[in-house]
Amino acid sequence: MTATPANLPDVDAFTRPYWDAAAEGRLLLRHCAACDRAHHYPREFCPYCWSEDVRWERASGRATLYTWSVVHRNDLPPFGDRVPYVAAVVDLAEGPRMMTEVVGVPEEDLRIGMELEVAFRAEGPEGPDGDATVTVPVFGPVVGRAAGPAAGSVAGSPFDPVGSDR
Ligand SMILES: [Zn+2]
Repeated sequence: MTATPANLPDVDAFTRPYWDAAAEGRLLLRHCAACDRAHHYPREFCPYCWSEDVRWERASGRATLYTWSVVHRNDLPPFGDRVPYVAAVVDLAEGPRMMTEVVGVPEEDLRIGMELEVAFRAEGPEGPDGDATVTVPVFGPVVGRAAGPAAGSVAGSPFDPVGSDR
């Protein structure tokens, strides 16, 4: 198999900090100082107010499930070996909506609005020096791994059924 895996993102100079942070287990967003909003995917200017006063900031890694689709067939490598998987859109705690994959949650347990937490997964062929690998953010059950004030309060059940954090 010589084709480039379809799941590998393009990494360029602008998005390099995002991927480097992901490899270290941190999810970054672009935050606009002019209108105080975060956005995703990363852009060099704010998509809300067009300001260029936009910087990287670390996201809490918390999100809620907006929608999902269980993919049972995908002929593009490497997905064919991975089906079924859960392609999802999540609402990040900071506001932006993000396309991702939900891992570690049985299909029948998926619920709109359920609390999720970022996890990271290495993708791509492992080269001799490992540099072909890109680490992508995925979302799974809340286990207190993410940064943020709720990290200490989620011990016990994997989900907070009350949603009492507001
Ligand atoms: Zn803005």
